Amino acid sequence: MIPGGKVYSEDDSEYTQTSVSKRVEALFLNNVGLVVTREQIIKAATNPKTGVQPENWHQRLSELWTDKGYTILSWRDWKELAPSEYIMPHTERRATAAKRVIPSKKCWAAVLSRANNCCEWVEDGQKCGLEAGDIDPVGGGTVKLTPDHLNPHSVNPNSDPNNPEQWQALCGRHQVMKKNYWDSSTGKINIEAILQSVNEKQKQAALQFLLRYYGYELK
Ligand SMILES: [Zn+2]
Repeated sequence: MIPGGKVYSEDDSEYTQTSVSKRVEALFLNNVGLVVTREQIIKAATNPKTGVQPENWHQRLSELWTDKGYTILSWRDWKELAPSEYIMPHTERRATAAKRVIPSKKCWAAVLSRANNCCEWVEDGQKCGLEAGDIDPVGGGTVKLTPDHLNPHSVNPNSDPNNPEQWQALCGRHQVMKKNYWDSSTGKINIEAILQSVNEKQKQAALQFLLRYYGYELK
């Protein structure tokens, strides 16, 4: 798939761009066609002034794909890669990535009517079903439904704004879930991404949960 096969980057430089996103982008642009490891990404993402490692580097990485339109392959896309290895095969960007398609007013009204004004997220066969204006019992806050484009790689996105079949109504919590933690290639929750994105305290709580679950003695 990649001419020349799998070659590792030896990039060990410090990146000084002003945001996590820009530093990670610079790392990949400096290493086009080379395998970049998780460690190298974390090093580049680390704040050059404070030395703080960002918890959310994984989200910034997926935004290079979703928002900036770059192609970045992981082990899911190219079998020769190991988990935690990534590669930007070229610097071309998809033109449609930056342009956000939104449904027309009429289309969105049709979606809401189909959805009975409730979140249409389905997980393990269970519909979320929270209604606009409800209080979200899990995430807290008042439920507000917003449109989610069902097929991000749609062949003809220009026809989609008027097609209710291409949209679903999602509550805020499930918009975040879909954007960051849902792996559309496998249709499963990306648990690793969730754990990477939460703070230290939450990671510790998850670890304690697993230790307890597997019967380890806790100190
Ligand atoms: Zn929901």
